[in-house]
Amino acid sequence: MIVVIAGPGGVGKDTISEALCAEDDRFVLSRSWTTRAPRAGEGPNAYTFVDRETFEGRIADKGFLEWAEYHGNLYGTPSPDPDDPRHLVLNIEIQGARQVLDHFSDDSFMILLEPPSETVLTQRLRSRGDDEQAVERRVAAAYAELSEGRTIADAVVINDDLTQAIGQVRRILEGRLSGGTPAL
Ligand code: 5GP
Repeated sequence: MIVVIAGPGGVGKDTISEALCAEDDRFVLSRSWTTRAPRAGEGPNAYTFVDRETFEGRIADKGFLEWAEYHGNLYGTPSPDPDDPRHLVLNIEIQGARQVLDHFSDDSFMILLEPPSETVLTQRLRSRGDDEQAVERRVAAAYAELSEGRTIADAVVINDDLTQAIGQVRRILEGRLSGGTPAL
């Protein structure tokens, strides 16, 4: 199964999916490629950082499961190892989520993460070092992304309390894997 964890930047996708994959070895987190420059304080493993030419070369080679342009930078999920039996977890924005759900409709599942409020989202974006202009641009885009996301998501989780949100994501996925109704 491909697990899509989607939602606007700053909503907590990375923290939640890293926790999920660290605690449960049935899941593996995909490492995306991006043409964005690394942020101050961002680890070298956050992404595979490449220039636009290298990224476009991989598009031409059909080396991405999905890719999208977001606020002027390219982001993409490299095609996974077909022999890896684990469920692949993607932290991606809504355009990419839509591509995955369209192409793998029987084998994908999307959880939309929402911030509890605009104030909290703004604080989270500021605290990770985005400059003020980027924060304003991203907050402005976030609500359009969320309303589009709600139309395609299989489940929605509000990331107010991190521990609770991780628990909810885990229970939803457990429900999906066992073929039952997710217990929220
Ligand atoms: P950021 O620049 O904040 O790291 O990421 C910007 C947005 O791109 C976030 O919503 C993030 O989840 C999304 N993103 C990260 N990797 C990918 C990817 O491989 N594909 C797509 N479509 N979006 C991605």
